[in-house]
Amino acid sequence: MNGHDERPVGVLALQGDFADHEDALAAFGVATRQVRVAADLHGLAGLVLPGGESTTMLKLLDVEGLWQPLGDSLRSGIPVLATCAGMILLAERVEHPNQRSFGLLPITVVRNGYGRQYHSGTFPLRSDVLPAGTTGTFIRAPRISQVRPGADCEVLAWRDQDPVLVRCGAMLAAGFHPELQPGHPVTAMWVAMVRTARGAALAH
Ligand code: GLN
Repeated sequence: MNGHDERPVGVLALQGDFADHEDALAAFGVATRQVRVAADLHGLAGLVLPGGESTTMLKLLDVEGLWQPLGDSLRSGIPVLATCAGMILLAERVEHPNQRSFGLLPITVVRNGYGRQYHSGTFPLRSDVLPAGTTGTFIRAPRISQVRPGADCEVLAWRDQDPVLVRCGAMLAAGFHPELQPGHPVTAMWVAMVRTARGAALAH
């Protein structure tokens, strides 16, 4: 990513919208590596869990033997960008239906919480940190029903009264699709987190 540290960020590439994340990251000069098998997790500067279909991703994680090694990487504290299905995989609690997750992000999500395909679309976001007029595209999106009280989390954007972008430590999670946003402001925010974490690592 610069002369001192060329570690790429990994983009989970089993299924879903990984290619658009790679394009968005490339636009910020960030090298990416598709993560499909455990060896791909070695030496990453960050990890992206894209949108797609979380049940399918869970199956493929098992098929590829990735559940444990990916969980280890996520728990290592590197910056993580989790979007839509990726946010479901990372959440502490998943409702309707309940399903397995890595349980690292202190939020509860309701799958398809805005209705199914018919209710998908692009909606205005309310935020103090994103550019005025920023919208988010929600596709069979999970709804964040709770951010665990007392957790070290900041809500960075809302859709109506619902939190839709949260930052908890090194994890940034969105219920919408940042890779589809014009100008990619959320991707930019995460790239800054990766560069800050990398700078801190180099200082040690
Ligand atoms: N509805 C999907 C799921 O439950 C998520 C949709 C998305 O990632 N756009 O996994």
